[in-house]
Amino acid sequence: MSNKAGKAGKSPVVVIGAGPAGLTAAYELQKHSDAHRPIVLEASDMVGGISRTETNNGYRFDIGGHRFFTKVKEVEAMWHEVLGDDFITVPRLSRIYYRDKFFDYPLKPINALTSIGPYEAFRIIISYIKWQLRPYKDEQSFEEWVINRFGGRLYMHFFRSYTEKVWGISGKEIRADWAAQRIKNMSLWKVVWNALTGANDTASLIEEFRYPRLGPGMMWERTRDIVRERGGEVRMRSEVVRVNRAGRRVTSVDVRKWDPEKGDLGTERVEGEHFINSMALRDLIHAFDPPPPPEVVAAADRLKYRDFLIVTLVLDHADPFPDNWIYIHSPRVKVGRIQNFRAWSPEMLPDPDTASIGMEYFCQKGDGLWTMSDEDLRALASRELEQLGLAKASDVIDAAIIRQPKAYPVYDGEYRAALDVIEAWLKGLENFQTVGRNGLHRYNNQDHSMLSAMYAARNILGENHNIWDVNIERSYHEEFQLDRKGKASALAVAAE
Ligand SMILES: Cc1cc2nc3c(=O)[nH]c(=O)nc-3n(C[C@H](O)[C@H](O)[C@H](O)COP(=O)(O)OP(=O)(O)OC[C@H]3O[C@@H](n4cnc5c(N)ncnc54)[C@H](O)[C@@H]3O)c2cc1C
Repeated sequence: MSNKAGKAGKSPVVVIGAGPAGLTAAYELQKHSDAHRPIVLEASDMVGGISRTETNNGYRFDIGGHRFFTKVKEVEAMWHEVLGDDFITVPRLSRIYYRDKFFDYPLKPINALTSIGPYEAFRIIISYIKWQLRPYKDEQSFEEWVINRFGGRLYMHFFRSYTEKVWGISGKEIRADWAAQRIKNMSLWKVVWNALTGANDTASLIEEFRYPRLGPGMMWERTRDIVRERGGEVRMRSEVVRVNRAGRRVTSVDVRKWDPEKGDLGTERVEGEHFINSMALRDLIHAFDPPPPPEVVAAADRLKYRDFLIVTLVLDHADPFPDNWIYIHSPRVKVGRIQNFRAWSPEMLPDPDTASIGMEYFCQKGDGLWTMSDEDLRALASRELEQLGLAKASDVIDAAIIRQPKAYPVYDGEYRAALDVIEAWLKGLENFQTVGRNGLHRYNNQDHSMLSAMYAARNILGENHNIWDVNIERSYHEEFQLDRKGKASALAVAAE
């Protein structure tokens, strides 16, 4: 069945995916043009992608806590336009749990050195001096990058185990790009010195963030409604399975429709003048018909992803800790990060006498964690919560589990060369752009996923932005925190 998308002479723009990027592309297009009509095609039955909010018996939760923070003015403006007073300000507290102690996060070296004990602090300093005198000459990996700046001992305590939990590979196999993108080029000595000399200013650290009252999904549900009110379409349960092209022009996409009860409803064809994609690049390249040249397909197969799952536990008593979230560095447990959803917004919980805790596990589709039954995951998460001394396993009264494939694009040794090949080929298409996080295979938060989508919409309207440049050079708030004098006095490197 063919589906002519044009209506009343408006030029149809087909958008693949109703996550932050796809919905932003549609919103931006409508904001600046009456002559275009977005048709957003979403494979699942929820909008928001990885930034959606799930619900279990009235308990709302994110796929990992989603903070709203940006330096991009137009993104900030859109968040406020869409949510108005429903966009709340939340105080931020997050710590690292390591060796049965809490350490400040972002890591403040003075706090780290005093909390870890004098003997270990001494070893950290000696190791730092050693690596300053004899650094790795040609730093290629994440591990070498960090050790050159902070020493081997500090790396071992505060970087290695968490980074390996997140990525499932050794810090030796992760490219230094990732560290360089996440941590400003600085040294332990600079961080310590700044903390000492600018000590009075550390109180002025920005310790709050914005958040939709009912979780991040609220932002994307509202955006969907606005897109529809303005005459656009957001079609749910519509998975793009083929992208049809004639030479350098994309002509249509084939969409598999499904229904929760009836199952597969067959395929329909949606035509368009322009196309904006936010599905993962690896899937996209395989969806083209005719397929791209073999080297492009081979490059797509070299892109890797890290998967993720969250076990939310409802406890029969008040919050076990005040933080929004805690990083769990201890290698004794599998959990990587623990959320406390009331600290994000009290409206995430229906019952004030309970707590809602999100136990986050980084995993690989098909591995032991991913394939574990929901019952076993609940038992594991409850046991680990008790092992960490945060609550008793018997306090758990309800649980829900969400598995999220392709949560993180992996920056391994071969991704950059592969991406170059894919980028060059896609740039040759006349009316097709790709945006977002997995759509660019870039470690983008919502803001940069959105900015790339805004640029794609504006390119259709005649502007000329290079989407692939978004977030190449970034100094992001969380890599290091600046005090009033602009000095870095704390250091953070963690995956959201
Ligand atoms: C654990 C975790 C924590 C995070 N924390 C933060 C945070 O604190 N702050 C922040 O700003 N960002 C955070 N992020 C990043 C944020 O989730 C992403 O930047 C954002 O969701 C990316 O938006 P997107 O639209 O590019 O992609 P996605 O969110 O992945 O959305 C893509 C959409 O496309 C759909 N789709 C895929 N394939 C098809 C197809 N073939 N046909 C139709 N539809 C398809 C998917 O179902 C999905 O809805 C976090 C990410 C993770 C994993």
